[in-house]
Amino acid sequence: MNIAMTMSKPDLRHHLSSEVLSRKENPMKVVQRLSMRNSNMISLANGDPHFSLYPIRKVKFEVAPVSDEVEDPFMSWQNPNSPSISFSSSRSDISSKSLSSESIPLNAALQYHGGTGSDVFVHAMEELTNYYHNPPNHKCLNTLGNMDGIVKCFRLLANPGDNILADEFAFGPPTNAALSQGINWVPVRIDKGGLIPSDLEKVLSDWDEETKGRKPRVLYTVPCGQNPTGCTLNLQRRKEIYAIACKYDLVIIEDDPYYFLQYSDSDGDAVPSNLMPSFVSMDTEGRVIRVESCSKTIAPGMRLGWVVCSPMFYEHMLHLVESSAQFSHGFGQIFLSEMILGPQGWGVLGFDRWVQSLRKEYQRRRDHFQVIFDHEVASTGYASAEAPEAGMFLWIRIHLDEHPRFKLLPSRTADSKNGLIQGVPTIYGRKTNFLELMDEFFENCLNAGVVLTPSSVFALPYESSLFNTDDPLEDRINYVRATFAGPYETMEPGLKIVGQVLRDFFSSNE
Ligand code: PMP
Ligand code: PLP
Repeated sequence: MNIAMTMSKPDLRHHLSSEVLSRKENPMKVVQRLSMRNSNMISLANGDPHFSLYPIRKVKFEVAPVSDEVEDPFMSWQNPNSPSISFSSSRSDISSKSLSSESIPLNAALQYHGGTGSDVFVHAMEELTNYYHNPPNHKCLNTLGNMDGIVKCFRLLANPGDNILADEFAFGPPTNAALSQGINWVPVRIDKGGLIPSDLEKVLSDWDEETKGRKPRVLYTVPCGQNPTGCTLNLQRRKEIYAIACKYDLVIIEDDPYYFLQYSDSDGDAVPSNLMPSFVSMDTEGRVIRVESCSKTIAPGMRLGWVVCSPMFYEHMLHLVESSAQFSHGFGQIFLSEMILGPQGWGVLGFDRWVQSLRKEYQRRRDHFQVIFDHEVASTGYASAEAPEAGMFLWIRIHLDEHPRFKLLPSRTADSKNGLIQGVPTIYGRKTNFLELMDEFFENCLNAGVVLTPSSVFALPYESSLFNTDDPLEDRINYVRATFAGPYETMEPGLKIVGQVLRDFFSSNE
C-alpha cells in the first residue's frame, strides 16, 4: 500500500485568508439548490431569463482540423492568419471573418488588449451608452456583467470599516460580497416608489461618527424594477437623490439591469425619451458609476457588461482590471461589436427594436402572471401584490399579522434563530414572530412543490444595534419574491400551489 495513502492529510485551513473566511454562502444559490430538491419542483424563485428570450439561435465555430489523418494541424490549416467565425440565426447572420472585410477581424479580437478590450468594442459600448444616457463626460470600461462591475466599484471606493448605503432590501450577492471586504451596510428605507430621499437625507444628517464610524460616501441602488421589491424611482426622486449625493459628497453605484424592462400602460415604445432618465444621464459632477449588463438583454451566460464612469474613476478602475481579469473574452467583444457596428449587425436602432420587443414580452408575462396571481393567490385574502412598473419580480406581502399564530414578542428578541436559508442576517431587535412564520410558510411551499424567494435573503445585513431599532427590518420580512421571467406553463400550476399552501397555513392553529 502506498505509504502516503495511510497518512492522514494535514488540515491546511489555517492558510486561508481572513477575506475568504469572512465570505458567506450566496443565499440565492441556496434557494436555487433547494429548488432542485425534486425534479417536479416549480421554481418561481430565480429571475433567470427564459432561453426563448435570448436573441441568439445558433453559434458556429470553424476550427483547425486535428483528426488522425491530419499530420500537422497547423500546416494544414488553410489560412491560419484569418480564421473565421460566424454567428447565425434564421433571420440574420453576423460573421466576423478576415482582416480585409469591414467586419471586426477575429484575429484582432482574440489578441491581447488593454484593460478595456479592442477599440471597436469600446466604440460599441460608447454608442449604446450615448444613445440611451448621453452622460456629460464619461468613459466605458468592460466587465463580466453587473456582479463583476459592482464588486469592482466596491474595490475602487471602499476601505475595510467603511459604511455604504443601500436599499434596505437589496440583491443579495453584492451585499454579501461587500462583507468580505469589511464593508458595513447602512439601510435606507424604501416604499412603493423605491428608496425614500428624505430617509436618505435623515440617515446622513443624523450620522454620528463617534458611534457609527466614518460617514457613508457611497450609495448602492437599483433604480428600475428594483430586485427584489420591483419598485422604480420616479424622476422627482432621482433628482432629489442626486441632489443629496452632491450635498453629502456621495458616489452613486447605479445597478440598472432592468432599465429596458420599464413597462408602459400606453402603447408607447421604449425609446430613450420614454425611459426614466438614469442617474448617469444627470451626472454633471462625475459622481455616478453606472453598471451595465448584457445579462437581461442578450443572455446571462454572455457574462458581458461595462461600467460608465468619470475619466478619473475610469483610470483607477483600469489599473485594477489590467492587473487582474483583464478585458472581456474575445467572443463577447466580437459579438457586441458586430451586433452594434458590423455591416450585418443590428446597429443601435436594431438593438433598440430588440429591447422594445423584449420589454413588450416581459410586460405580457407580467400581466399574465398578475391575472393568475389575483385569481389563485390574492383571492385567498392572505397575500397581496401590485404589478411592478419594471423588471421581473412581484413582491408579495403575506398577511402574517392575520395568521392565527401571529404574536407580538413579550420583549425585544435579539436572538432569533437562523432561517432555513443560511446567510440570512441575524438579527435585529424584533417585536414579532414573522421570522418563524415565514420559515414555516417557505418550508410548506417547498414540500408542496413550489419555490419562492423569501424576503429574508434580501434583508440588508446591517449592524442592528446602530439602525432602525424602533422599526426593525425583521418585522417587515413578511414578503416573498416571485418572478414572471420563467416559462408560461409553470405560472398557473405554481401559483395554484401557493394559494393552496396559504389556505392550509392560515387555517393551522398549531
Ligand atoms: N446570482 C447571481 C450572481 C446573479 O447574477 C443572478 C441573476 N440575477 C442570480 C443569482 C439570480 O438572482 P435573481 O433570482 O435575483 O435573478
Ligand atoms: N444586480 C441586480 C440588481 C440583479 O438583479 C442582477 C441579476 O439579475 C445582477 C446585478 C447581476 O447581473 P449580471 O448577470 O450582469 O452579473
